[in-house]
Amino acid sequence: MLRKNASGETQILSSIVRGQDSLHAAYGGVVPEIAARAHAEILDLCVEEALDVAQTPLQDIDAIAVTAGPGLIGGVVSGVMCAKGLALATGKPLYGINHLAGHALTPRLTDNVPFPYLMLLVSGGHCQFLLVKGPDDFKRIGGTIDDAPGEAFDKIARLLALPQPGGPSVEQAAQRGYTKRFSLPRPLLDRTGCDMSFSGLKTAVLRARDGLVRDQGGLYPQDQADLSAGFQAAVVDVLAEKTSRAMHQYHQLSPSTATLCVAGGVAANMAIRARLETVARDNGAGFVAPPLALCTDNAAMIGFAALERMADHPPDDLTLAARPRWPLDAKSPAMLGSGKK
Ligand code: ATP
Ligand code: FE
Repeated sequence: MLRKNASGETQILSSIVRGQDSLHAAYGGVVPEIAARAHAEILDLCVEEALDVAQTPLQDIDAIAVTAGPGLIGGVVSGVMCAKGLALATGKPLYGINHLAGHALTPRLTDNVPFPYLMLLVSGGHCQFLLVKGPDDFKRIGGTIDDAPGEAFDKIARLLALPQPGGPSVEQAAQRGYTKRFSLPRPLLDRTGCDMSFSGLKTAVLRARDGLVRDQGGLYPQDQADLSAGFQAAVVDVLAEKTSRAMHQYHQLSPSTATLCVAGGVAANMAIRARLETVARDNGAGFVAPPLALCTDNAAMIGFAALERMADHPPDDLTLAARPRWPLDAKSPAMLGSGKK
């Protein structure tokens, strides 16, 4: 739950986050049916807890925000149904929010960054450079042509028998590793523009792992650490170089302002944050990276995106649909609030 105070600042009253990693651990990946059921089972409790922590009764809230996509559809449908039920029962306005807009607008929640700014959205399923000009105005200027870095971190963790989610465990292992032991590729650096690729890097890590001598109990900890460090260094190099190019492009599109922002789960990685800060500084730009808990998925960013939307958009109605795919720069009717704008 969020509140705007008298001076226009946004306060987070509560942001309840519940993960499901333990439910999927035995299957080596997310099982859609389990994910949908787990959402349906826990949503009421999360709503209750959010109201409790914020010490606000349901009838005192002004509006209800819900992620309407993109994502694994069972979970999104559960959320949308729950929000519709709340809207119907309370008569409060309902806002269906694009999950990626939630990530991309977070620097305004945490640091009140003015539009426009350059956003590197780097998460479990996405990696893209966006020129963010308004709450509903995103211009994509490049991104991954295959995998997202988050899914690559998760895959590498599986290859190295490290726990899920892979990002934090690979980052932790990398701290004990030697980055230069394995020679890993930096894909697409020889190509102009700011498109990226991470799938070849994943395969290179797989090959390097398969070439290692193993203990009976699995990989040696130093091998896990060195491969983690090598992989992370390659991701950092690719993101840094491509961000530098995106900044040049951004300066041409928007010469007057210069802020580089980063968001999404992978933006919680300290090595990535540190390097991007240097890139921003070298390009004469400011740098904003939200606190770690607001980089990975969270409730506050969706509430904030709704606050931004409420200023000049009508609410959605009960025909609001859950969308498995929803590109940020596509001005589809659903993105404009049930086509009412
Ligand atoms: P998307 O936002 O693209 O739909 P998502 O919502 O599943 O994907 P996020 O919560 O935004 O993903 O991010 C989760 C991803 O971030 C996971 O792949 C996870 O491994 C990665 N991640 C989290 N912490 C770190 C870290 N410290 N270093 C690298 N990656 C990280
Ligand atoms: Fe996300």
